[in-house]
Amino acid sequence: METLYFVIPCYNEEEMLPITAKALIEKMDQLINGGRISPESKVMFVDDGSKDKTWEIIEKLHASSPLFTGIKLSRNRGHQNALLAGMMTAKEYADIIVSMDADLQDDINAVDGFLDKRAEGCEIVYGVRSSREKDSKFKRGTARAYYKMLAKMGVEITYDHADYRLMSRRAVEALAEFTEVNLFLRGLVPMLGFKSDTVSYVRNERQAGESKYPLKKMLSFAVEGITSLSVKPIRFITSLGLAVFLVSIFMLIYFFVLWCMGRTVAGWTTTVVSVWALGGLQLLAIGVIGEYIGKIYLETKHRPSFLLERDLEAEEKNKPAEQPSGGKGDN
Ligand code: UDP
Ligand code: MG
Repeated sequence: METLYFVIPCYNEEEMLPITAKALIEKMDQLINGGRISPESKVMFVDDGSKDKTWEIIEKLHASSPLFTGIKLSRNRGHQNALLAGMMTAKEYADIIVSMDADLQDDINAVDGFLDKRAEGCEIVYGVRSSREKDSKFKRGTARAYYKMLAKMGVEITYDHADYRLMSRRAVEALAEFTEVNLFLRGLVPMLGFKSDTVSYVRNERQAGESKYPLKKMLSFAVEGITSLSVKPIRFITSLGLAVFLVSIFMLIYFFVLWCMGRTVAGWTTTVVSVWALGGLQLLAIGVIGEYIGKIYLETKHRPSFLLERDLEAEEKNKPAEQPSGGKGDN
């Protein structure tokens, strides 16, 4: 029987955590009693530098049940890094890892399906939302358009899959070989290959607390996804530049012919329009290139994606054994 670790990134989730913990403990009991996962299985919460009581709650949960454990990042590093930190820590103890958000938007009962696929030999199982009715219309629309755009850019991505997935230790170890700091896990994981499958589930509403992904973060996440996985935008800009150059040559010839025929040169408007158009295009091009250069800059530093401040699991394992065994004095 395999040991399963849930990895759950949490950022300011004090309202949600008790509810999530309760649901998870029921699910874990059911899976363990049903003989589907080993009794060593655990839920690992990753505190992503929360400013509220999240870490205190995690410590309390850890003290209350051996099913719960947690790690604490030294500061807020964002969802993707928190997830990576959790997976890299959990792979030391687990055979299979299921990553999931703290807000129970992803149906935990889909885990049964994940385990079925695992039994069929899959190393990676993607949770796919069969309907997003509970998401806001705006989020749904933008997400759809975004996935389509990613596919066009040649990024291999599973449609409507967020970061709810099962990965075997083997797959996580392969992921650990990717040393990049610009992380977009849902684009990276499909690159691993291995036998994989999908399980669909219905996405729920967030039950408490609020989304930690405001529009601004969503947009930067979207840009991250494209620029960390695809170089097509640079190529697009190159072809755009070429096209504009051809147009300007054409215009040059046109106005030269007009001048030869002795007609007054078309004046001010064209000049101003082309100056602005070209200036705009150049700025756009420089912006896109800058985005990639910024990425290269970050990658060359080889900075760690996360730093752990606490690891309850390791602390537990390294604790000097203090069982009252045989009453051997008190030294
Ligand atoms: N999260 C995190 N660090 C952050 C932001 C979010 O660990 O900086 C976690 C958050 O606690 C949640 C998950 O990432 O477990 C997804 O966030 P949320 O549910 O707010 O995003 P949404 O579902 O609205 O896209
Ligand atoms: Mg959510």
